[in-house]
Amino acid sequence: MPEILKTNAIVLRARSYSEADQLLTLYTEKAGKLTAIVKGVKKPKSKLRGGVQVFSHTNVDLFLGKNLATVTQAETINTFAPLREDLLRMGCGAYLAELIDSLVPEGESDTKLFSLVLMGFYLLSVEEPRLATKVMEIRLLRELGYQPQLESCVNCGQTKLAGYYFSSELGGLLCVQCLRDKPGMAIVKISGETCVILKQLMSMELTKINRLRISANAKRELAEILDLHITNCLGKKLKSKDFLDNLA
Ligand SMILES: [Zn+2]
Repeated sequence: MPEILKTNAIVLRARSYSEADQLLTLYTEKAGKLTAIVKGVKKPKSKLRGGVQVFSHTNVDLFLGKNLATVTQAETINTFAPLREDLLRMGCGAYLAELIDSLVPEGESDTKLFSLVLMGFYLLSVEEPRLATKVMEIRLLRELGYQPQLESCVNCGQTKLAGYYFSSELGGLLCVQCLRDKPGMAIVKISGETCVILKQLMSMELTKINRLRISANAKRELAEILDLHITNCLGKKLKSKDFLDNLA
């Protein structure tokens, strides 16, 4: 019996496969991240065309083959249209999609993570996109076990911290003693405000991020340490990040 899986999915990436076919990277609710082929989708009359746009939330039927899944039905639930209409939102969307693709392992379903990812694309379409991107970076890191350590020294566990010295290499704050013991280590000194905002972004209700007031300095520091931390976690810089950084 051929196995058809009906599931909600988010289209993270679409690339050309042959003259008429496309390969999609989908993050699905029931089967996690997977690659699927959509046959004939580039033909003008394809019924699947509308349902498989990048960044969209869609309801798909997947035929699970031995090596590759095939999309046999696709019905859009939300295209998150603003992500296609505004260059900054589009850049943030491409970055979020690449970040998810890089952080999430293949084939592991996680309903909670799926809801978070879905929420991320929704926030990007309605909120200030750079802030929405920051909160999603932090939440994805937390959900996937890469949360930066802010409550105690990441090296020795000491909870008394006399300043905010972030080690990008270790992924958290250092106490003064460890700071002295590791003179060669790359450290970013952040303000108390940045540390508070980071903690807030980690736990606050996602629909309330527009209430946050963040100084230009804290925004800069937040971006700096998250970029360093993510690059360290992934061991590489994401391609879409350069594009995003070059947008005004
Ligand atoms: Zn320490």
